[in-house]
Amino acid sequence: MSGRAFLQIPGPTNIPDRVLRAMDRPVVDHRGPEFAAVTERVRAGLKQVFGTRDGVPMLYPGSGTGAIEAALVNVLSPGERVLVYNYGVFSGGLAAISRRFKLDVDEVVLGYGKTIPTDDLERRLRADSSTNPYRAVLVVHNETSTGVTVDVAAVRRAMDAAQHDALFVVDTVSSLASIEFCMDDWRVDVAICGSQKGLMLPPGLGILCASQRAVAINQQGGGSPRFFWDWAPIMRENRIGLFPYTPATLMLFGLREALQMLVDEEGLPSVFARHAYLAEGVRAAVTAWGLPIVCEDPPCYSNTITAVRVPAGFDSNELTRHARERYSLSLGGGIGELSGVAFRIGHLGALNELEVLATIGGTELAFADLGLDVEPGSGLLACQHMFLAEEAGKKLVQAVAVA
Ligand code: PLP
Repeated sequence: MSGRAFLQIPGPTNIPDRVLRAMDRPVVDHRGPEFAAVTERVRAGLKQVFGTRDGVPMLYPGSGTGAIEAALVNVLSPGERVLVYNYGVFSGGLAAISRRFKLDVDEVVLGYGKTIPTDDLERRLRADSSTNPYRAVLVVHNETSTGVTVDVAAVRRAMDAAQHDALFVVDTVSSLASIEFCMDDWRVDVAICGSQKGLMLPPGLGILCASQRAVAINQQGGGSPRFFWDWAPIMRENRIGLFPYTPATLMLFGLREALQMLVDEEGLPSVFARHAYLAEGVRAAVTAWGLPIVCEDPPCYSNTITAVRVPAGFDSNELTRHARERYSLSLGGGIGELSGVAFRIGHLGALNELEVLATIGGTELAFADLGLDVEPGSGLLACQHMFLAEEAGKKLVQAVAVA
């Protein structure tokens, strides 16, 4: 099909040309000075993205799942108790992965579309066993299957209110570099990510950041058996710009470029504001369509992903298939319990208004082709009005500031 394809799944996201060009180069000696400088720059930039001064970023050839495994095996030992709320595929996944490592998992099943009830969390932590307390609370910041963003600061407040010193492990795979994340302020012990979403890179890196408390557990011999994921050799080698095994060299050149764009040029506050603004446009369209958003609590609406329910009797998998085949528009399918009953619009990473409008317009065409009773153009109009209103609001604020 002529023209470009639209990749509006909730990751992997579109890669800016600059980032592609930064990776389009001969492979360098990963033990030479040029690469050591890239490693240093990338680690410094990642600290800014994670919102930490003392945290230690680590990079693996891998993906988000690898980073989850790395987080668990470096700080948790078989038999230790962990608390996990299940509100979708990935939060449920944290519980499942933890069980594989023989952790003693308390999984609280909330249902798709829900967020963590912090009063319940506080109550559970207050009532925790004094002889064998939870060793960690595991949370997904942005549940990619439902488009629910958990208030991580509120989770931390609940842990503090209960005076519980469990480790705080947070999956930021679909939020980092798109939705504000403050590792130090929220005293997160391990934050987990991958390269292919907010960081605007291809899939291929598992990334995490460990607090000094988490690092100390690793250094004192805590955790589970590990080799590839072990932090100790990574930290030792990273100090001199090296890795204990072959790093994904070209990906790091891409990451350096992406961090330059996100941190140094656009600036993280603007990146977060852009995501919020584009997400408002998407939600305005979905509301105009008259279709329910899966997230049940508007303050938790995700600024990176909107999961949309389709009417009973309509197959959302048919919609995503048709949009992809007819319009080269890839939308996210419903996953887990939402397969067939919802679809997901990814609105994260390198993205602007016109790309959002194309996505909304393409989705409307696919609705119409499949006979879904949604007025073509209704979402587009609502989305445009939202963008125009936001723009007018910005101009007003500027005028007041000048006056
Ligand atoms: N956690 C969340 C919140 C995710 O969205 C994903 C993937 O989309 C993962 C974990 C797994 O990451 P990966 O597919 O990079 O292994």
